[in-house]
Amino acid sequence: MDTQKARCAECRSEVSVPATYAQGDHIKCATCGTRHKVSRSGEAVRLVLADTTPLKDALRANQAQETRLEAELQAARASFGIGVNGIGIAVAYAIWQVGFRDQTIGMALLWEVVAVAVVTGVLLELANYFFLAKRKAMSRLADEIEEVRAEGRSIQQKIREASRV
Ligand SMILES: [Zn+2]
Repeated sequence: MDTQKARCAECRSEVSVPATYAQGDHIKCATCGTRHKVSRSGEAVRLVLADTTPLKDALRANQAQETRLEAELQAARASFGIGVNGIGIAVAYAIWQVGFRDQTIGMALLWEVVAVAVVTGVLLELANYFFLAKRKAMSRLADEIEEVRAEGRSIQQKIREASRV
């Protein structure tokens, strides 16, 4: 068997693996200095990280980030509910203004109704604007959580591969 080429798990540059290197032997990447273990299966040779400490650190940081994003999403969901109540209150206030105050049909009442409608409309528009912003923030957070989870799975996969050799 001749010297084979394998890719560094860290910087992806090619590392020459002489035939004398058996399964589990340590070999360093000449480019970045990362230590690897040789993993042989049949004719194929692969390099896995000898030291999984950086991976485990990365996984811990990844899980902390996931927890933080989930808390942020939960907070956004909670305040979303408060916004919905705000609209209900605005509508109830408008009904109270029009329905339960002195009702003399005339220009005064008409103007009052128009004013209430305008104010309520502006409030609804504002609420709508913030709802959209909040919904966007929530879906952005959900996307970020997905990415962080995928990254976590890939780190775990690397740790498992490295631990098998
Ligand atoms: Zn390297």
